[in-house]
Amino acid sequence: MSKTDDAPDQTAPPTPGAEPPTAPGPQPGERRLVGLPACAGVAIGPVFRAVEPPAQITRSKVHAADIPAETARLEAAILQSRRQLLKLRGRLSVLPEDSQGEIAPLLDAYLQMLGPSRLIRGAKLRIQERLASAETAVMAEANAIATALLARHAECNPDPTAPGPQRQADEVREIGRRLVRNLTRAPFRSYSGAKPGSVLIAEAIRPSDAALIDPARIAGVATEEGGTDGHTSIILRALGIPSVLGAPGLLQSVQPGDSVVVDGSAGIVTLRPSPASQNSARRAVAGFARERQLLGRLRRLPAVTLDAEAADLQANLELPVELPLVAQSGASGIGLLRTEFLFMNRDTIPSEDEQEAAYRNVIETMAGDPVTIRVLDWGGEKEIEALVAAGLVPEIPDTNPALGLRGVRLLLRRAELFETQLAAILRAARAGPVRVMLPMVTDVSELRAARAIYQRVAQTMRDRGETIPSPLPELGSMIETPGAALSADALAAEADFFAIGTNDLCMYTLAVDRAELDVAHLYDPLHPAVLRLIRETVEAAHRRNIAVSLCGEMAANPSITPLLLGLGIRSFSMGASAVPRVKQAVRSTTIDDCQRLTWQVMKQSDPSRTRELLDQFGR
Ligand code: PEP
Ligand code: MG
Repeated sequence: MSKTDDAPDQTAPPTPGAEPPTAPGPQPGERRLVGLPACAGVAIGPVFRAVEPPAQITRSKVHAADIPAETARLEAAILQSRRQLLKLRGRLSVLPEDSQGEIAPLLDAYLQMLGPSRLIRGAKLRIQERLASAETAVMAEANAIATALLARHAECNPDPTAPGPQRQADEVREIGRRLVRNLTRAPFRSYSGAKPGSVLIAEAIRPSDAALIDPARIAGVATEEGGTDGHTSIILRALGIPSVLGAPGLLQSVQPGDSVVVDGSAGIVTLRPSPASQNSARRAVAGFARERQLLGRLRRLPAVTLDAEAADLQANLELPVELPLVAQSGASGIGLLRTEFLFMNRDTIPSEDEQEAAYRNVIETMAGDPVTIRVLDWGGEKEIEALVAAGLVPEIPDTNPALGLRGVRLLLRRAELFETQLAAILRAARAGPVRVMLPMVTDVSELRAARAIYQRVAQTMRDRGETIPSPLPELGSMIETPGAALSADALAAEADFFAIGTNDLCMYTLAVDRAELDVAHLYDPLHPAVLRLIRETVEAAHRRNIAVSLCGEMAANPSITPLLLGLGIRSFSMGASAVPRVKQAVRSTTIDDCQRLTWQVMKQSDPSRTRELLDQFGR
C-alpha cells in the first residue's frame, strides 16, 4: 500500500460517510492531469503562474582559492538538477501516451546537458579561468551557447523563425535557469500579483515558497514536482489549500488565461474545465464548506471516549497565519510549534527580540493553553538560506543531509544560535505556559548537553535581573529515530517529556525519504517496525512517569486514532484542520475496544492487514 493510499485523513472529505466530490469523466476540450493528492478539497479559479524572479546573483567573482569550492557548488547543483529531472521522468508513466511522447525527449535533452556537455565544461572553465562565481559562469555560458546556436543557424538558413534552433536555444537557457535556481536556492516569492481566488501553478514549491502563500488569495495549488509527505505538503495542509503536487506535463499544458480545477482529494488537475466540470467543482467546493461547518460544531465538545477517558488534542503550528484556524479547530494547545518559519525567506538570523515577539504572539493568542516550542530543526529537506548566509551551515549541502548535522546536532555545534532561541523562549514564557522541545535527538549526551546550555542561559538571565519562569519550562525530546525509540528508557531519565515524530521515525526506520516520490509506496507508518518503536517509546515514558505525545502526520489520521489510544497515547498534536475528525474518532470508541484492536494489530506482520483491521474497526 502506498503512502498516498495511506493518507485518508488528508485526502478524504472530512466527515466520515460524507459524499465524496464526484467529477464527471473527462469532457471535450479540457485537459486532465494526474498528480498526488496533497491537501483535500476542491478549488476552481484562474491560473496564476508563479513567475520566477530574476536570479539573485549576489557574487559574480570568486578568489582563486575558492575555485575548488565553487566547482563543488556547481557539481552539487548539477546533481540536484539531475535528481529533479529523473524524478519527473519517473512520473511520466501516469500521463497519456501522446503527452509522454512530447515530454520525455525534452527531459532527455535536459539530462544530457547536465552530463559532460559543452554547457557544463564551459561553466567550469569560466570558474577556473575567469574566476566567475558558479551562477555567473552558468548564466554566461548558457547565454553564449544560445546566442551562438541562433547566429550559426542564421548564417546558413534564411528563415529566422524556423523552430529547431530557437527551441534548442530555449532548452539551454532553461537548464541554465534550473542550475542557477538550485545554486541560489531562490524561492519563487512573487505571489503578490495573484488575483484573489487564483490557482497557483508552479514547477515546484519549496517549503519556504509555501510559507509565503496567502490562503485568502490562493484558492488552490498545482505543481509539476513534489510529493505528499514533504514539508511543502504539510504547510499546504496546514493552510487548508486544496493541492495537487507532482503532476507531470502541467507547465507544458497550461496556457495564459486558462481556468483550472484542482481536486486535492483525487489528485486531479483539470485545465480549461468544461461547463459540466465547472459545475461539479462548484458543488464540491460548497460540499466541503458544509462539512467544515458540521465539524465546527464539535469544537466545544470534549475529546473523551465513550468510557470517559480523556484525550488531549493539540495543534501543530507551521506559520502564525494558522493561529485563527487553531482557535476554530477546538485544539487544547499547540503541541508542536515548528520555529523554522522564523528563519525562512530572509538573509539574516532573527534577533532575540524578534523571536521573543513571535513566540509571545503565539502564547498570548493561546490565552493560557499550553504551547510546546520546538527549537530550530534545520537540515534534511528544511533548507534555510539565512543560516547559509550567516556562515552557520555549509553552502554545499551534505551528500546525505538527512543523516547530517540536523536538528539538535546543529544547535549544539552552533551554541550561539541555540542560546539566542532559548533566551527568546524564556522571555516569552512570561506570557503563558510553555514547554521547550528538542528535535532529532538520538543520544542521551545530546539531552545532557542541551540541558546544560538551557540552564546556563537561564542563569545568565537571572544574573542580569531578568524575570524568568521558575521552575524553568520543561525540556523535552522528540523521538524521531529508531535509535531514540530503542533507547527511550535512557532518554526518559533525562527528558521531561517525549513527543513522537512519526514523520521522521517512519522515514529513518524504513530508510525511505519522505519527499522522494520513487519510494513513496514504501513509506508506511503502519509498518510493524514503526508501530513497535512507538510502543517501545510509550512504555518507556510510562515507566519513567513522563508525558508522551505523538505529533507526526499519523496523529491526524482518525482511522489510526483507536490504535494509538490502544497503545496508551492520550496526547496528540496535528494540523489544526484534522482536530475535529480525530475528536470524533475519540468520542466514538472505548479504551477497551481500542486495546483489543491494538492487541490484534501488534500481531500482524503485513501493514495491509493492519489497515483492514482499522477499516473494520471504524465500521
Ligand atoms: C516528525 O518528524 O514527525 C515531526 C513532527 O517533525 P517534522 O515533520 O517537522 O520533521
Ligand atoms: Mg521531524
